[in-house]
Amino acid sequence: MLTFRAAAIVLTLTGILGAGCATSPPAGPTPPGLTRPARPNILFIMADDHAWQAIGAYGSDRNVTPGIDRIAREGMRFDRAFVTNAICAPSRAVILSGLYSHLNGVLDNGDTFDPDSTTFAGLLTGAGYSTAMIGKWHLKDNPRGFDHYEVLIDQGPYYNPTMIRDGERVAHEGYTTDIITDLAIGWLREGRDPDEPFLLMCQHKAPHRNWQPGPGHINDFDGVAIPEPATLFDDWADNASPARDQEMTVANHLSDHDLKLARQTELNDGQRAAWDAAYDAENEEFRAAGLTGDGLTRWKYQRYAKDYLRCVQSVDDGVGRLLAELDALGLAENTIVVYTSDQGWFLGEHGWYDKRWAYEESMRTPLLVRWPGRVAPGSVSTDLVMNLDFAPTFLSAAGEPAPGQMQGESLTPILEGRTPEDWRQSVYYHYYEHPGAHNVVRHEAVRTATHKLISFYETGEWELYDLVADQDEVTNLYGQPGTEAITGRLRAELEYLRAKYAVTD
Ligand code: CA
Repeated sequence: MLTFRAAAIVLTLTGILGAGCATSPPAGPTPPGLTRPARPNILFIMADDHAWQAIGAYGSDRNVTPGIDRIAREGMRFDRAFVTNAICAPSRAVILSGLYSHLNGVLDNGDTFDPDSTTFAGLLTGAGYSTAMIGKWHLKDNPRGFDHYEVLIDQGPYYNPTMIRDGERVAHEGYTTDIITDLAIGWLREGRDPDEPFLLMCQHKAPHRNWQPGPGHINDFDGVAIPEPATLFDDWADNASPARDQEMTVANHLSDHDLKLARQTELNDGQRAAWDAAYDAENEEFRAAGLTGDGLTRWKYQRYAKDYLRCVQSVDDGVGRLLAELDALGLAENTIVVYTSDQGWFLGEHGWYDKRWAYEESMRTPLLVRWPGRVAPGSVSTDLVMNLDFAPTFLSAAGEPAPGQMQGESLTPILEGRTPEDWRQSVYYHYYEHPGAHNVVRHEAVRTATHKLISFYETGEWELYDLVADQDEVTNLYGQPGTEAITGRLRAELEYLRAKYAVTD
């Protein structure tokens, strides 16, 4: 006879196992007369360097994004989604492996992702999903663990890309963002195994530097003044410690090529004609004006922001087309659609472009998820979530166990509107690429719902921000009287997270 305690344990275990198996397909062949529960398809759309400030659903005052906004309207918007390391290749390795950079081996853009790494994509392929990776891969070796791939070489160009399709080089003519969307739609129509659920990773290179607009959007924003961020002329008086040495200002670190003041040699003749028509007259006007100082910075910001936003509009077109394709193919109801970026981006905030820092524009990333029947339309989450969570989330949604080494948590309960009571209260961040482009020193950070503590351990400097009172992070409170208690708590939290995630010096 069971004691009360043993019975309680049995009941608890039954509850846990029952919950864990709720979305799992039955093992082995499906008995006659029973239909196997449909595992959801997963369409993962990721842009590169897409600022949440440049998405309508996040309240952009600079552009409109009807395609992307549809995911928010029909699904969940995450307002506190973060990356663990705000730079291109490391973010991709984190997403695929579910491991922090120090454990997946990709600390910076120079590292190679071990092609034999365990990834959620490889596990889904092994579990019978029909899988494809299309677009920007950026992890050096060709993708493994997918049924099909067609990827850009390294960063890839904005126009006329050569791609690697299942090991073979394929030359394309046209605008890369549109080509990636076309390839993704082509695979949905004819490439996938229609008898199995699918995973499609559609990863744009846009709107990465150097922001070359597509033919359909090259004249967008003509005659419009893009609003300037409040911190465009930030002099880092309060956060001067690491910022004094960075090289990512709109004022001084954009090249003539970035600003379209130099000839873009990558274009074919027809593309160049549209390009010249769009830029030549404006460039003549600019040269004649002889701007200096803040006036010159303002002009550079307008040119930079417009080209960036023009690139975003092509990404947004692609999202809209993919959603329409899911509708047309009758797949929308059983497909999880994710829109995210490999990190955030400074669209002039603090006077910068680029990413890397643990500041909000960079560390925080857009994340929108539609999952009909599971995610309430128009819902918003303020839970602290990370790109580290994607792998366990997709595995969980597919009814597959996440390997024990994966460090993230499945977002499925949050998506269903029931955040676990013990959900994380802080996020750990670590940037490594120094020395490197833009000269941003290494740092680690802890971010809670209300505060952020950053350790610039190469220089021994610290920063503390009150994210409620100071959303722009312009007032470093570290060492200020009255902040001893919060600083102590955050330093203890940082140590706890370092231990939890097995970070070593
Ligand atoms: Ca990126």
